[in-house]
Amino acid sequence: MTPITKRIGVLGAGQLGRMLAIAGYPLGQKFGFYGSNKSEPSALLGHMYMQSDDVDSLADLASFADVITYESENTDVAMVREIAKTTPVYPGEKSLYTAQHRGREKGMFDQLNIPCAPYQIVDSLESLKRAVAKIGLPAVLKTTTEGYDGKGQFVLKDENQIDQAWSEIGGRELVLEGFINFQRELSMVAVRNANNEHVYYPLVQNVHHEGILRYTIAPARKVSEKTQQKAEAYMQSLLDELDHVGVLTLELFETVDGLVANEMAPRVHNSGHWTIEGAMTSQFENHVRAITGLPLGATTPRQPLAAMINIIGETGPIDQVLKVPKAFLHLYDKEERAGRKLGHINIIAETEEELFEVFKVLADFLPK
Ligand code: AMP
Repeated sequence: MTPITKRIGVLGAGQLGRMLAIAGYPLGQKFGFYGSNKSEPSALLGHMYMQSDDVDSLADLASFADVITYESENTDVAMVREIAKTTPVYPGEKSLYTAQHRGREKGMFDQLNIPCAPYQIVDSLESLKRAVAKIGLPAVLKTTTEGYDGKGQFVLKDENQIDQAWSEIGGRELVLEGFINFQRELSMVAVRNANNEHVYYPLVQNVHHEGILRYTIAPARKVSEKTQQKAEAYMQSLLDELDHVGVLTLELFETVDGLVANEMAPRVHNSGHWTIEGAMTSQFENHVRAITGLPLGATTPRQPLAAMINIIGETGPIDQVLKVPKAFLHLYDKEERAGRKLGHINIIAETEEELFEVFKVLADFLPK
């Protein structure tokens, strides 16, 4: 049999790269990272190719690697196109180009008949006023690119706020979206490999606080088979249209009228971290399998319930976590800073009661 060992180059060296490497080493894979400093979370898990070096370290990474992947949808498309001339990059350029711009993303949702909020692209105060007249209020104004953790957003409730909204986040291209009165926020992680195999994880529920994901419940409670299938059908059409190879994540709103797509990410995702101990194959291992041409692994949960709690800003009382038999601590080797994702805790449980008992013990890690 041909050896499966591949050398994987990751553009970025944060916690996602770190967890990809942790998942890839048991499969015999090797890793290199294109990072900005040697204290980044991935730094000790593979060779670091430094962005700031005078030598062409990106070319060095490309010649080290059999395949290149990336950690962020904000990765430069021109850079990816250049690397792809010599080394395959997965997910490919189309996935990256589409997912890094909210307008292009919504254009694809429309094309594939995936419901999303009504929207208008705006690039001036006047066009914002026209968009408000068309979409109505409340509405959410967002930058078309580079928003994350709720940054670059303004919830418009009243026409008097239009000038303020434009001066706070305008002066660049924006998208105005109709406000979705959702019951809860869900997401799905799906994976496709180059042999056109598709696998889907169950829909999960995500709870945010001050724009940051705080915890995920997996699978989301009381999701009908029909809803799971609908989400899988949306994902399948996206994966196929993008010719996507690797993990793709879709964030959704659940409303009384069904699922509404919010945004997608062409990468492993925070709402999929529960899969490390919670599913037969983690999202990280499945991403590695997909981009290295291996068969995909089972996405079945190991126990009826799992949860992921993000550790934000300060590391907190981790001894409490270590005492819980079915809780698993993941730290990213990052310095404490307000609002920063420093790690996460995964929990597996047989029942809701068991899960929420652990939530009580770990209350220090949850938003007050
Ligand atoms: P995003 O960066 O698009 O994921 O938005 C961050 C958060 O803002 C989401 O997780 C929602 O809680 C909220 N949000 C975003 N868009 C909308 C919308 N169109 N209607 C209602 N809430 C929204």
